[in-house]
Amino acid sequence: MVEWQGFTERSESSMPSITENLARVEERIGAACQRVGRRREEVKLVAISKTFPAERIREAYEAGLRDFGENRVQEAESKRPALSDLAITWHLVGHLQSNKAKLARELFQWIHSIDSEKIAQKLDHAAAASGEKLPVLLEVNLGEEPSKFGAGGEDVVQLGERVSRLETLELRGLMIVPPFFEDPESARPFFRRLRELARSISDAKLPNVSMHHLSMGMTHDFEIAIEEGATIVRVGTGIFGERK
Ligand SMILES: *Cc1c(COP(=O)(O)O)cnc(C)c1O
Repeated sequence: MVEWQGFTERSESSMPSITENLARVEERIGAACQRVGRRREEVKLVAISKTFPAERIREAYEAGLRDFGENRVQEAESKRPALSDLAITWHLVGHLQSNKAKLARELFQWIHSIDSEKIAQKLDHAAAASGEKLPVLLEVNLGEEPSKFGAGGEDVVQLGERVSRLETLELRGLMIVPPFFEDPESARPFFRRLRELARSISDAKLPNVSMHHLSMGMTHDFEIAIEEGATIVRVGTGIFGERK
């Protein structure tokens, strides 16, 4: 402890930096991959920056992160001008309202949270003239939690079939936010079920669909998700610290 440092500096230096946090997250990802014989490159780390200001996102970028996720379109819009010089891939991970579809399509390169045919259609209609396709994931709700968004397990195959017909979207997999359990091990059956559902859609051999991606695992439970086949983990707290 350096006694002559000012109060602000001292209190800041006692908080782990994003670089330190990221190193710890990387260690955990690496260990989980190793346990099940997967390569680190098979898992994409998306930093969930909701509630954190643009300066913190820039810091995380400088620490080496390139994929960032937000859960609200308007919040993303407000941070974007300050970050326009960075080569970030933006992911929308929260529920999308149909009146925000056009804006979402402008702001995000990936949408993880397709939970209805209607929202998929809105996104499709909002396509830019450039003809660029938008990679999307279907959000699945297996916890039967009415407060959460997502298609039920029995509806998701049909939703996949409908989304596959939309020409400007590219169905790339599934996403889940399981119920919260004290013991992350309890989330394992949800991750496993998500993988099985992705396989059912894959088996339907829909044109223009690749079910390669499983977006699952957050700060609390991403090791279990990686063990169960996650290709994308969404980590907020572990990188940026606690949200207010
Ligand atoms: C907030 C959020 C995360 C990150 O959660 P942490 O527990 O902070 O890692 C991941 N996915 C979604 C959909 C979120 O809303």
